[in-house]
Parts: sequence; C-alpha cells; structure tokens
Amino acid sequence: MIFKKEHELIRKLAKEFAEKELAPIAAEVDEAATYPKEVIQKLAKANFFGITTPTEYGGAGADYRSYVIVMEELCKKCASTGTYVSSPNSLMGAPLLSVGTDEQKRDYLTPMITGEKIGAFGLTEPGAGSDAGAIQTTAKKDGDYYILNGRKTFITHAPIADFTIVFAKTDETKGLKGISAFLVDSNVEGYSVGKPEDKMGVRGSKTSDVILENVRVHKDKLLGKENKGFLTAMKTLDTGRLGIAAQSIGIAQGAMDEATKYVKERKQFGKNLAQFQGIQFMLAEMETKLNAARLLTYNTALKKDMGLDASKDASMAKLFAAETAMEVVSKALQLHGGYGYIKEYTIERLFRDARITSIYEGTSEVQKMVIAGSLLK
Ligand SMILES: Cc1cc2nc3c(=O)[nH]c(=O)nc-3n(C[C@H](O)[C@H](O)[C@H](O)COP(=O)(O)OP(=O)(O)OC[C@H]3O[C@@H](n4cnc5c(N)ncnc54)[C@H](O)[C@@H]3O)c2cc1C
Repeated sequence: MIFKKEHELIRKLAKEFAEKELAPIAAEVDEAATYPKEVIQKLAKANFFGITTPTEYGGAGADYRSYVIVMEELCKKCASTGTYVSSPNSLMGAPLLSVGTDEQKRDYLTPMITGEKIGAFGLTEPGAGSDAGAIQTTAKKDGDYYILNGRKTFITHAPIADFTIVFAKTDETKGLKGISAFLVDSNVEGYSVGKPEDKMGVRGSKTSDVILENVRVHKDKLLGKENKGFLTAMKTLDTGRLGIAAQSIGIAQGAMDEATKYVKERKQFGKNLAQFQGIQFMLAEMETKLNAARLLTYNTALKKDMGLDASKDASMAKLFAAETAMEVVSKALQLHGGYGYIKEYTIERLFRDARITSIYEGTSEVQKMVIAGSLLK
C-alpha cells in the first residue's frame, strides 16, 4: 500500500479545508485576480506551506505523499491556491532546506512557512525560458557584495513577495557552471517589479517581471555555493514538478466531479445524459486516464520518500498529469454542452486553470527532454 492511515487523515484535513475555505472563494479569486490575505494566513496556520519541512524550522515534518495529497485536495476546489502552497514547499523551500545556511533558514525558510514572508523563484527571463541556462542576469563581485543586473519574467507572486531567489551569472565564461543563486529582498534599492500579467488561469496568483538595476546583495545572501546555482535550480524543479503533477490531478478530479454531477442531472432525448452509453464510455476513459496520472504522481512521491532518485519520475508524472488534466477538463466541458462555455459554470474556470500545468516548471516538451535524456545517457 502506498498510503498509511496518517495520509488518509491528512487527506481528510485538506479536503475539509478546501470545502470550507476555498470552494466559497474560488470563483471570486478568479474573477477579481486577487487572493485574500486571511486565506494565506489560514493556509500557513494549517502548516500547508511547510508540509515536508522538518519541524525544527516550523514545518509539519511530513512526507512527499502528504504533500501531493494536500495539493490534490486543495486544487480540486481552487487551482490558484496550488501556487501558494507549491511555491514555499518546493520552489523556495527545497533549495533553502538543501543548501541554505542556518541564518538563511531562520530569516527566510521559517518566516515563509509561518506566513510572515512570501517568496518567489526567479529563473525565467525574456530570452531564457525552456533554455533556462541562457539567462543573462549578471552578479558581479564587489568586495563583500554582488551587484545584480537583469530582468526576470513570469515570476509567480513577485508583486507580493518579500524576497526572490534570483539566478544570475557569476562567471560569464563558464556557461551553466557559472550560475549562482541569491536571496534578494524586495525592499532593496534597485529592485522593482513589472505590472501583474492579465492571465488566462490561476488568476489568484499574481505574476510579474522582476527588474534588478545595480542591486547590491551581501555575500551572506548567496544561496549555496558560488557557480552551483544551476544545479540547485534543476534539483528544485524535481520537487516542483511533483507539485504541479498533483495540481493537475486535483484540477482534473474537480472536472470529473463537475461532469459526473452534470450528466446525472441534465436531460436530453427524454433521458439523463448519464444513461447514454456514449457518455458513460467517455467518463470511463477520463476516469482511467486520471487514475493512471494519479498513480504516476503517487509513485514519484513514494520514491522521494524512500530517498530514491525520482527526477525522471517527476518529469513523467508532470508530463502525463498535465496532458491528462487538459484532456479531462476539455471532455468534462464538452459534457456540459453550451453551458460549459459560460463563466457561471465551474468547468469554464477549471478549463482555463488546467492550461498552465503543461507550461510552467518546464513545458511538456522539456519534460520529454528530461525523460529521453535520462534514457539515453
Ligand atoms: C503563469 C506562469 C507562472 C510562472 N512562474 C514562474 C516562476 O515563478 N519562476 C520562473 O522562473 N518562471 C516562471 N514561469 C515561466 C515558465 O517556467 C516558462 O514560461 C516556461 O518554462 C516556458 O518558457 P517560455 O515561456 O520562454 O517558452 P519557450 O521556451 O519560448 O517555448 C515555446 C515553445 O517551444 C517549445 N520548445 C522550446 N524549446 C524546444 C525544443 N528544444 N524542442 C522542442 N520544443 C521546444 C516549448 O515547449 C514551448 O512549447 C511562469 C510562467 C507562467 C506562464
């Protein structure tokens, strides 16, 4: 059995949280493209920002299976919430935990888990998306400081973040081996953010550029060793991809729930839609694919819990779960007929939310590169 009793208790807790706190706000969060601060605090209080973080840093000290269960349950009701939960657990939490100093853990990791600080992860640039190693942001040494210059793009939570993990070139002659990671506070001189993007989905998470103009960062804020930043970024994305796989299955399950409810109620040709075999077969195929995606995701979490290398597994889980989520929500919308195209119906939001899962934290094509790379090495 992949799960133990404690996992089912965590599922129950996350499910109840999602039904009580998220279901009532999800449509408004999407419509207004804002996220209530008090819900961020409630998520922190439930310890959802540090699920796998050891208790000594304020986390829940749970495992990756618990993490995917929480992501799945929350995203069933509100996919935007998934961005608030996955970021501290993976994008910022994983590198801080693995290569952060004691002071960095005290100043950034713990406050992020308790909801006092919001973090962001700044890798992508206008000219460096899938080819993340092509970043142009520089960090030039100046005594005890580094001077950072560059522009990051599509940075989740940048408009509300207290700090960003910025990846920059510390040695321009060394390619991927010349990139370092820095903890950059949002209140330092020369740091600014662009206007929030008007996004298709996950609209409750604010996304913008981060602009760095002669930003002075003390050497104490170097995260990990100099020139080892790209390795840190790639390791971080392994955990990140597991979270996005879980977000995908959550959104797809939300769509399944909407579709099964709808076809039992809607009557055409004198019968409920659910009575037609064509509809039943469609549901059966959706359910089967969704469960295959779920098992790939759970298996990746289990391998990580066992301390095994799960890099290829995380890419396979994200690839399959994201593509499945898009297929499942699209078919669920089809089952709603014209009503699925109307904003009043939840499926319309789920359709838009699902679309991001095959893009961020590495597109589906990038996941295929990782999988093939691991096969052919
Ligand atoms: C809402 C949102 C939130 C995000 N949050 C963050 C964040 O917090 N931090 C961060 O650093 N980044 C973030 N990103 C950036 C995201 O990770 C990138 O958008 C993504 O990696 C793709 O990069 P790109 O947009 O530049 O597309 P490109 O790299 O330009 O790709 C365009 C298309 O070409 C394909 N492609 C590219 N190269 C190849 C190839 N060699 N072979 C085959 N196909 C290829 C891609 O798969 C894609 O389909 C976010 C993006 C969005 C939209």
